[in-house]
Amino acid sequence: MRKRLSLLIGVFITVVGWLPGSAQTQPKWKPRDMSRPAPLIVDPGTPSTESNPGRPPEDAIVLFDGNLSKWSQKDGSEAKWKVGSGYFEVVPKTGYIYSRQPFGDCQLHLEFFEPVPAVGEGQDRGNSGVFLMGLYEIQVLDSFKNKTYADGQAAAVYGQYPPLVNASRPPGHWQSYDIVFHGPRFEKDGKLARSARVTVFHNGVLVQDHVEILGPTATGKPYEPHPEKLPLALQDHNHPVRFRNVWIRELDTGN
Ligand code: MG
Repeated sequence: MRKRLSLLIGVFITVVGWLPGSAQTQPKWKPRDMSRPAPLIVDPGTPSTESNPGRPPEDAIVLFDGNLSKWSQKDGSEAKWKVGSGYFEVVPKTGYIYSRQPFGDCQLHLEFFEPVPAVGEGQDRGNSGVFLMGLYEIQVLDSFKNKTYADGQAAAVYGQYPPLVNASRPPGHWQSYDIVFHGPRFEKDGKLARSARVTVFHNGVLVQDHVEILGPTATGKPYEPHPEKLPLALQDHNHPVRFRNVWIRELDTGN
């Protein structure tokens, strides 16, 4: 009986697997097939300008809408960072903040504003960070005329890859990151099946081109197994960096 049931389930999964699903992942379509499912229609929103953060795409999850309700401290309590008019700001020594919702593969947009006048040098100037899954940092730093090690400047995969170019604006101007991230995958026994990959645009300029993340950036150690979704984190590095227009789209590319 049990055998027959598992056979039925197997047949069901096979049949369902062949039903039309994502327009990109089903292999059965011939070129120019009119019956292929059309992609969802999404209002793309509007781009940002210096004075106006624009409108996110219709299907994005907005992570800042004038308050920090979508964020918390590490222990789950209310985020302690400051909220200003249309932005939020790191309050030094309060700690990282974490998205209440966990994310894995995603497209992430955010904008940041480095303190002006610039204070400090190297890593001690306008330092924060975008920690994908709380583990993999895209560096936020005031890298305008500010020398530091290449794999620690703005838009670096921290400690691993310098950005392809330094596309930083001067402090006191809004800057953007557009990030496409695919998290790592692990086998059931915890072995790494696939490394994480990341693509980053800094102020619209390609700075990380689908690079293979080598492991958690803070520790410099190899991967350790973790769930496919974890909270996104923003770093408190003792500098009052501001953020606005933070939105994310979860990706389901079928792998
Ligand atoms: Mg940092």
